[in-house]
Amino acid sequence: MFILKSEIQFDTAHYLSGYTGKCANLHGHRYRVIAKVASDTLHTDGQLRGMVEDFGTIKQALREIEKLFDHKLLIENNEEGHDVAQQLTEGPTDFDLFMVPYRPTAEEMSRHIYQLLKEMSIRVCEVEVFETPTNSCSYSEGSACSK
Ligand SMILES: [Zn+2]
Repeated sequence: MFILKSEIQFDTAHYLSGYTGKCANLHGHRYRVIAKVASDTLHTDGQLRGMVEDFGTIKQALREIEKLFDHKLLIENNEEGHDVAQQLTEGPTDFDLFMVPYRPTAEEMSRHIYQLLKEMSIRVCEVEVFETPTNSCSYSEGSACSK
């Protein structure tokens, strides 16, 4: 089994609505995202000979993810989120918001990024999102990285 790992990092703000504690307040993280692509076999000819996948292809997809999240404020797409978004965009500053259909936890973000990579035809088997240097969540479907 070969497992490729590729990483990106981005700075993103969020808050957890309906949460009691300091994560209810608006704050930011330096997120680290590690995507894994697994294969039992390597390509046997052409450009990809001896490879699972071109690292450049994975990195390009991760850059798209980075563009989506970097220097954005994640807001849960619900009634409260709409109120917050309205207040933030009515003023003189045009904040760059990213409305997401989930509470923006490391768990939900890892699943979202996994799904986005799949849609970009990356044969991803696991996505790990570090919210802090010591806390992360990994998302995979089944046991795709270790079958
Ligand atoms: Zn946080």
